[in-house]
Amino acid sequence: MTQLKRDADHLWLQACVAQSLQQALMDLETACTNFFANRAKYPRFKSRKRTPHSMRFPQCVMVVDDTTISVPKIGLVRAVIHRPLQGVVKGATVKQDATGAWWVVFVCHIERPDVAPTCDRPVGIDVGLESFTTLHTGVKVKPPKFYRRGEKKLKRLARKLSRATKGSANRRKAKQRLACAHQRIRNQRADWLHKHALEIIQQFDTVCIETLNVKGLARTKLAKSFSDAALSTFMQMLHDKAEWHGRRVVKVGRFYASSKTCHRCHEKTILTLSDRVWTCGTCSTIHDRDINAAINILDEGIRLVAAGMSETQNAAGDAVRPASAGGRR
Ligand SMILES: [Zn+2]
Repeated sequence: MTQLKRDADHLWLQACVAQSLQQALMDLETACTNFFANRAKYPRFKSRKRTPHSMRFPQCVMVVDDTTISVPKIGLVRAVIHRPLQGVVKGATVKQDATGAWWVVFVCHIERPDVAPTCDRPVGIDVGLESFTTLHTGVKVKPPKFYRRGEKKLKRLARKLSRATKGSANRRKAKQRLACAHQRIRNQRADWLHKHALEIIQQFDTVCIETLNVKGLARTKLAKSFSDAALSTFMQMLHDKAEWHGRRVVKVGRFYASSKTCHRCHEKTILTLSDRVWTCGTCSTIHDRDINAAINILDEGIRLVAAGMSETQNAAGDAVRPASAGGRR
């Protein structure tokens, strides 16, 4: 890097912060390591036109006051600071999104008290497309259909974009408008998911939930509804919020037959996806499909917690940790 900087062809390298350049090299190193370990594809060059602009600063980005941040080699920049920084700042990324807005993302290290998650108010949750979440208590929440709602507008904007002459100013504007419409839907969805996940985490201390077959579901004809519901984002949020609030998420393997087992007599029946309500052939209880599944997931989750197996139980291979490290029971 030092030699390149002295090279007459690469004098422009001196215009940016040395640490950002080193960070880029470290990112490349990570990419290569991942490639040789067969975890990722061969790293690609960034495109000046297509890749969103971003740069990373391992230190020295500072919040000056409520409306200003200071960035090395750039100086004071006006900013909207939407929440105060907590903990020790470990670096910052400055990036531009598709709508053209610039963002500063801080990485902070925060010490949290180590609390053992309790199991006094457990909940079983069945997730799906018909009803987004069904609690074992019978509370059902409809999936938000933000994409479906905005589809008409998106279509119109996409059509305008494709009709505009390539390279024209109108095309640039059309692209911007489409990106904004997408962003709006993303924002609405994220807001809804955050609120819904937080509500569950605040109400309950142990959340039992089924692991999802994300890839399998995304391939079906329900794919659009599925990605609109953003179930996997929701699961991730639940997990993060649980960790933050000292709660626990127990994942029940998806091969556990939660839907077709009667929660009263544990007898299995044959169900199709369209059977929303069914009657148990053995004890003749009338079941709501989702509520019955939620009760089964709760029972299985509690069993896993009691057996101390809540960490190893996961089908997808994603790490299931107790809500706080060292807080195992
Ligand atoms: Zn039964």
